[in-house]
Amino acid sequence: MNNHLIAGKTIKQWKKDYPLLEKISSTEEVFWENPNYLSFGKAIPNITLTEEDIQKADERLHRFAPYIAEVFPVTRDLNGIIESPTVEIPEMHRCLEEMFQQKVDGKLLLKCDSHLAVSGSIKARGGIYEVLKHAEDLAIEHEMISVEDDYSIINSQKFRDFFSIYSIVVGSTGNLGLSIGIIGAKLGFNVTVHMSIDAKQWKKDLLREKGVTVVEHTSDYGKAVEEGRKQSDLDSNSYFVDDENSINLFLGYAVAASRLKKQLDEMNVLVDQNHPLFVYLPCGVGGGPGGVAFGLKMIFKDHVHCFFAEPTHSPSMLIGLMTGKHDKISVQDFGIDNITDADGLAVGRPSGFVGKTLENLISGSYTVDDQTLYALLTSLIEAENIRLEPSALAGVHGPVQLFKEAAGQKYLKDKNLTQKTTNATHIAWGTGGSMVPEEVMESYYQLGSGIKNND
Ligand SMILES: *Cc1c(COP(=O)(O)O)cnc(C)c1O
Repeated sequence: MNNHLIAGKTIKQWKKDYPLLEKISSTEEVFWENPNYLSFGKAIPNITLTEEDIQKADERLHRFAPYIAEVFPVTRDLNGIIESPTVEIPEMHRCLEEMFQQKVDGKLLLKCDSHLAVSGSIKARGGIYEVLKHAEDLAIEHEMISVEDDYSIINSQKFRDFFSIYSIVVGSTGNLGLSIGIIGAKLGFNVTVHMSIDAKQWKKDLLREKGVTVVEHTSDYGKAVEEGRKQSDLDSNSYFVDDENSINLFLGYAVAASRLKKQLDEMNVLVDQNHPLFVYLPCGVGGGPGGVAFGLKMIFKDHVHCFFAEPTHSPSMLIGLMTGKHDKISVQDFGIDNITDADGLAVGRPSGFVGKTLENLISGSYTVDDQTLYALLTSLIEAENIRLEPSALAGVHGPVQLFKEAAGQKYLKDKNLTQKTTNATHIAWGTGGSMVPEEVMESYYQLGSGIKNND
């Protein structure tokens, strides 16, 4: 067993080369500083995606805005643009300092992707974007629309009949399926979502109500994706949303950055040489947090410091980045079970595409225990009356970890930031939660209360 090779080495050799793997495989909370981090100027020549690609995605979302405003009336206030608020959470800031006995310098903000219209999670960015792009490609190819048209014409029987010839298939732990299913069904596509074992019942029920076919798997995310891909490949009219490799998903997420910049300007939040921005992104397969981080680096360059956050039982992106093996290595290879209540993050093998794109841009990564996620969930409700799903709380723990952990302190020192932390802004990316049914949220809240009171 001990001689078994993982990506060319035994476990013993891996642990010798990367001592942090010892703690990671014991599912202890860790903080990792990325030794491959490079300045923006040095990192960017290695990356093929550009600012222009993100801009094109943004323009496409604007073309679809009149359609979105018509079919999802809640988006009318923002003229059909699906965007979430960014808010300061000072009570939670105080609460964090008290809970963890750790001073957190700077300002703490929450990006409320939990409250994104249509599907209530960060997947309303990438997932919806990818389906819209596919719909546009088909409609243009069949000369049903041109980019100069008012896209509200897509809200018609003619278009729904046209799209009904086509299928869309996706594998998901829940939220991506929700996004793809809701927008896909609205346009008229036949949508099939392959759900991993982690997917919550209410997410499957909601999709079936919308006429989406849900296939339930008793295996984890990787297997659900594999089965979905197989099914889709059998049908030439079927389009597979490839969460592990999709550039379109990634670009849909990346659009978040320019919109955040505008919000920060409106809030008079400075980001520059002396005012660092720290962003903490809950990470599953990597597309969502990776896309957002990529967009942020394009705008704020060396002044933004992005960290991925994962459950202690699913640290797949961390292991992929640290070993440089990306999708060639999984948490199960190290005896980690990939079982976590943070369903959106329950991914055992990360996206190789995202890992390679971000390997020089991401500042580091850390893990959070499920118990901590629940305690934070309850605290955020009590402090700010904001309800997030367990996965989304992974980001909220980031500022504490940065200051508390030796590797976090070292990062600040290495980047000459120690003297600037009082001017810093921390953004926890609140990736999901507003669609969680009330009784499910109440049970999360009770769990978190129990954990907090036992401490
Ligand atoms: C999917 C998801 C994430 C992570 O996104 P990936 O693209 O899988 O890395 C984070 N939080 C929530 C709530 C999610 O649903």
